[in-house]
Amino acid sequence: MKDIATPIRTRAILEKYKFSFKKSLGQNFLIDLNILARILDAAGVNEQVGAIEIGPGIGALTEQLAKRADKVVAFEIDQRLLPVLGDTLSPYDNVKIIHSDVLKADVSQVMREEFKEGQDVMVVANLPYYVTTPILMKLLEEKLPIKRIVVMIQKEVADRIAAKPGSKDYGSLSIAAQYYAKAETVFTVPKTVFVPQPNVESAVLRLTIREEPPVEVEDESFFFEVIRSSFAQRRKTIFNNLTHHFGKDRKEQIEVALTTASVDPKRRGETLSIEEFAQLSNELIGLLK
Ligand code: SAM
Repeated sequence: MKDIATPIRTRAILEKYKFSFKKSLGQNFLIDLNILARILDAAGVNEQVGAIEIGPGIGALTEQLAKRADKVVAFEIDQRLLPVLGDTLSPYDNVKIIHSDVLKADVSQVMREEFKEGQDVMVVANLPYYVTTPILMKLLEEKLPIKRIVVMIQKEVADRIAAKPGSKDYGSLSIAAQYYAKAETVFTVPKTVFVPQPNVESAVLRLTIREEPPVEVEDESFFFEVIRSSFAQRRKTIFNNLTHHFGKDRKEQIEVALTTASVDPKRRGETLSIEEFAQLSNELIGLLK
């Protein structure tokens, strides 16, 4: 039998189950084995690895993971796909499908239950585009014991996540992701490898999870508050954004913190490195809290 991720087999599966795509669930299925092989290579999947997939669809990527990894655990929200997956993945005994919205799932507990202690675990997925950022931020913020996240997402979001200071794409999302992981766009993907074809361009993003944060931050939630408020209005200076957020009566303290952190108050948030934001938030917290 042909692999699932081929146009012929995919069409046959969709017809057999009279499956209608739900746009609201970001259902764009992969029909290109070459792209799938490149995704698995980028993730470094081998027979020792545990893989977590989000949104298996009809099993295109799941099947390739099942062939190469030790075990695959996949979260699928759409109940209609469960019988389909039961059928398409029946040749593989190392796949577990969990019927759940991944945003509501206790991924940490699932990992403890499903993977061996000390096993390298990677997240590999063709993400539903309407929830890309919440899913990635959940995986990062929960500090799950995963090594790498390799995901197909909108190219525009991949560019924002991997952006460097000073570039037009650099913002609070770049810093949030890069605080937890090293981020890189591995390759871009043409629309023709999906059915149905998405409206946006796609790219594969690799996040290599850091063992330690790249900077020392006294209070993580305050650090992220400073970052978000610094980007609230991109055309404003960092000084104006911070005074707008923390209050005009804190002007002096903000000026002192900026000076101590060697940040010119006239600069814009998009020019500050993660190290500068860390220093600034460590200074500000002492003066404002
Ligand atoms: N992995 C398949 C492939 O590459 O062909 C399908 C990818 S498709 C872009 C996204 C999948 O995620 C769909 O199967 C969709 O039903 C599922 N999905 C959407 N929202 C989800 C959520 N919150 N939790 C889990 N799965 C979700």
